[in-house]
Amino acid sequence: MKFIQLLLFVIAFSISCKNQDKNLQTAKVEDQRPNILVIMCDDLGYSDVGFNGAKDIPTPEIDKLAFNGTIMTSGYVAHPFCGPSRAALMTGKYPHTFGSQFNLPANSEVTVGKGISLKETFFSKVLQEAGYYTGAIGKWHLGPEPDYHPNKRGFDYFYGFLGGGHNYFPEQYTAAYNEQKAQGKEVIFDYLKPLELNGEIVENPSEYLTDELSHKAVEFVRSASKKENPFFLYLAYNAPHVPLEAKAEDLKKFDHIKDEKRRTYAAMVYAVDRGVGEVVTALKEKGEYENTLIVFLSDNGGKLTKGATNFPLREGKGSACEGGYRVPMFFHWPGKVASGKTFPYPISALDFYPTFAKLAQAELPAGKELDGKDIWPTFSQGQNPRKGEMIYVLRHREGYSDVGVRQDQWKALKTNQNNWKLYNIEEDLGEQTDLSANYPEQLAKMVFEAEKWSKTHTEPQWFDPEELSTIWKEKNMAQFEETFKIE
Ligand code: CA
Repeated sequence: MKFIQLLLFVIAFSISCKNQDKNLQTAKVEDQRPNILVIMCDDLGYSDVGFNGAKDIPTPEIDKLAFNGTIMTSGYVAHPFCGPSRAALMTGKYPHTFGSQFNLPANSEVTVGKGISLKETFFSKVLQEAGYYTGAIGKWHLGPEPDYHPNKRGFDYFYGFLGGGHNYFPEQYTAAYNEQKAQGKEVIFDYLKPLELNGEIVENPSEYLTDELSHKAVEFVRSASKKENPFFLYLAYNAPHVPLEAKAEDLKKFDHIKDEKRRTYAAMVYAVDRGVGEVVTALKEKGEYENTLIVFLSDNGGKLTKGATNFPLREGKGSACEGGYRVPMFFHWPGKVASGKTFPYPISALDFYPTFAKLAQAELPAGKELDGKDIWPTFSQGQNPRKGEMIYVLRHREGYSDVGVRQDQWKALKTNQNNWKLYNIEEDLGEQTDLSANYPEQLAKMVFEAEKWSKTHTEPQWFDPEELSTIWKEKNMAQFEETFKIE
């Protein structure tokens, strides 16, 4: 009897050890997956944050993260304005490849039934399917209709607005909306529409919009921390995008700025900084700070006529010059991302999809095409992730296109139907000295590759402004033969 009891005990003990091992293993795998927090500003200038040299706008909370992480000095987005840039971030593909080269127009019949192609699986969906608790807070701009709603595209939680922008003071936008509705106006400007929570109208938002979004992000972090699985939060502030509207108490801090637009813009950025600080505090309180990869960026360059600065980069929002699409960007993750470093090599927001999916141990959809790459192995070694490879930007204008191509130290540029130019962008950040005559073969190679890339484009599914659709047809766009000709 004793022997059998002993045998049973040994068997039971070994099973329990095995289970414990299995549990430990599962726990270990889970622990390795970080929370991912993407903080995206709207139209924030390259040098409008302390970590990139702003002197007149203090951003202490953002700077703390940037300096404890790695600052990307050559971080690009895929397009120099809002909608297509965000579409690229979510799909991991250039927006031209699925017809989203233009913003979805506001309040237009053109957008009925339109949004970012449902054939494209957003990376939020990939993370959600890998078990992440996913949230989007703020600006959407990827399709206002039910089929294209954030909750349908991989976000468990959505708080914000579906259009391309929003006014900031609730007493003002709510009153304006109600008034227009009472007048029977059928189409009301997106910027005035009520905020929503998972498809339900938020009746009485009470805070200045940036604060409102920050506080929802804090709530999200608190509730996400109670869940077993990690979270993904896409915190898409609409600041400092127009309308330029700031709180009086924030404006007071910027009396020294004489230019009214710059003063208001500065106060708006300052409000974002306060919010980032609050979100970081929540992460720390909930023990999530150490295991959260924080990525900060702007969706495109700052708009020079609306108070922003991209110095020393040339031009701004909308441009194929660096100021249009090289953005303030950093990664922060204690112990995992190098602290106090800058990363000089070109990376793209197109890289986020494969990079984050890998960190999340998520499976990519079968046959998924990507224009970016998993940069983690090279980035974490401080090495160049795409030596010799190209990063493109292409913006259609009225009957022609502006194009930029980056390869290593080179930048090829075509704007305003002028001849192609070539710059050594490492030495000439402001794109001032054209070297095309000195290095014609280098230029020809880059233009050739860009033309090859343009063959992956499809016709735009919508235009913004709508009148562009007429010009598009009249001018026989996209006119790529003309675009990629070197005179
Ligand atoms: Ca933008």
